[in-house]
Amino acid sequence: MAEAPEPIRNPEIKYTQIFINNEYVKSESGKTFKTLNPCTGEPICEVQEGDKADVDKAVAAAKAAFKRGSPWRRMDASNRGLLLLKLCDLIEKEATYLASLETLDCGKPYKAAYGEIGFSVNVLRYYAGWADKIEGKTIPVDGDFFCYTRHEPVGLCGQIIPWNYPIPMFVWKIAPALACGNVCIIKPAEQTPLTALYLGHLIKEAGFPPGVVNIVPGYGPTAGAAISSHKDINKVAFTGSTDIGQVVMEAAAKSNLKRCSLELGGKSPNVIFADADIELAVEEAHEAVMTNMGQCCVAGSRTYVQDTIYEEFVKKSAERAKRRKVGDPFDASTENGPQIDETQHNKILALIKSGQSEGANLMCGGVRKGDKGYFVEPTVFANVTDNMRIAKEEIFGPVQQIIKFHDMEEVIERANTTHYGLGAAIFTRDINKAMTFTNSVDAGTVWVNSYNNVFPQSPFGGFKMSGIGRELGEYGLQEYTEIKNVLIKIPQKNS
Ligand code: NAP
Ligand code: MG
Repeated sequence: MAEAPEPIRNPEIKYTQIFINNEYVKSESGKTFKTLNPCTGEPICEVQEGDKADVDKAVAAAKAAFKRGSPWRRMDASNRGLLLLKLCDLIEKEATYLASLETLDCGKPYKAAYGEIGFSVNVLRYYAGWADKIEGKTIPVDGDFFCYTRHEPVGLCGQIIPWNYPIPMFVWKIAPALACGNVCIIKPAEQTPLTALYLGHLIKEAGFPPGVVNIVPGYGPTAGAAISSHKDINKVAFTGSTDIGQVVMEAAAKSNLKRCSLELGGKSPNVIFADADIELAVEEAHEAVMTNMGQCCVAGSRTYVQDTIYEEFVKKSAERAKRRKVGDPFDASTENGPQIDETQHNKILALIKSGQSEGANLMCGGVRKGDKGYFVEPTVFANVTDNMRIAKEEIFGPVQQIIKFHDMEEVIERANTTHYGLGAAIFTRDINKAMTFTNSVDAGTVWVNSYNNVFPQSPFGGFKMSGIGRELGEYGLQEYTEIKNVLIKIPQKNS
């Protein structure tokens, strides 16, 4: 998409109700909850609070939409693709409004929110193209059989998403699901329900039949748990913390063994060798951990720097962090807005304190910024060791840990000494070093001389406790189909 136009600073709030069967409805319980503006901590509006009863209603609507003979089941696959393309056009038309609404509800810089909409549209278009290319195989089995496979939709997909990238996460979940012919019940995060609810209106306008996508805002332990433990939901896809990922998987197993894909946390190593382009590496390592205020599952939150360039790298990284502009996310020059909420803000400040008390050198930042909202000064720690909490725990804030290493064997070992395995990067001019590292590190994505580039066409997900399954690309489709094997006996004598 083109450069972001001027934002709408006070976007009108149009949809705050639960979206079921292509209609906006109140919660069964009559309860509502507030969504806040993280710049001020003040409420923006009340949103209908979905609960088990509302999830049950959404499941009933999704079941009807998925019934044999329903318009959705009878629709040509190519027409499913066309509906997804129509949705892309509608999102693009409303990109300024949607990005402004996101900035208000989530606090992320408007320019970034606008860019994320462009990326989300690309993901939708990519999967629209797949809708009529979900193909099985013919298999030469032994004997007199014609054998083929069909990749059929899994059915009812429950999808639980976080607050850090509300629109992209919504799209990563629904796009492959719909391309494969599934129906969705999606729960946005309690902190950021507004753009998801607005997308419901666009989904209806695009022409998706009622019940194909249902959006239930609410809290994790109620609405989220109702999804992961529902006996009639066939698959759950979750993005969020590793702790809750375990809860979701347990509920999935105990209820009905629904299929489960998880995209969880990380503590991703970003390794800078002395032969790297230092200016590039400083900038990329800075963005790797500061982008989206550090609220990024794949944040490069362990910056390993080779000992011979360590001091220079620390100095340059601190200078860069001091220049990072923190402030009004609607302002075009702002690089960081506030953290999402008070809980996250306090968690980050507590981890910073632990870094200081465990002996790391605070080079800059380390404190809240201003007295309103949830802003944190970009923070750089040097002389960090692997056993400190800030080197082990996911901080999810603008806090860079710079750790010294000596050689390749040692840094691979240390990079892999974690239960996580989401992302990793290496900066070097030596192809042999790059190949050794990329082949040896436990990570779902490894970047060389860059960080955080994500594409609709290539897979994203984690090794170890960073998740199960992959999103995006052709691999992302595997989560959303069941494979049916058909064997037709061929008679040997024909009359
Ligand atoms: P979280 O609790 O894992 O939330 C993610 C989603 O799961 C939200 O929609 C949440 O609902 C829902 N949820 C919570 N409890 C649930 C349950 N028992 N059953 C089903 N769904 C449930 O993450 P958080 O509390 O927002 O953030 C905490 C930490 O998680 C962060 O500090 C960060 O380390 C990590 N995190 C990682 C990612 C990522 O992209 N991998 C994203 C966000 C956070 P609510 O809206 O009610 O919370
Ligand atoms: Mg909010």
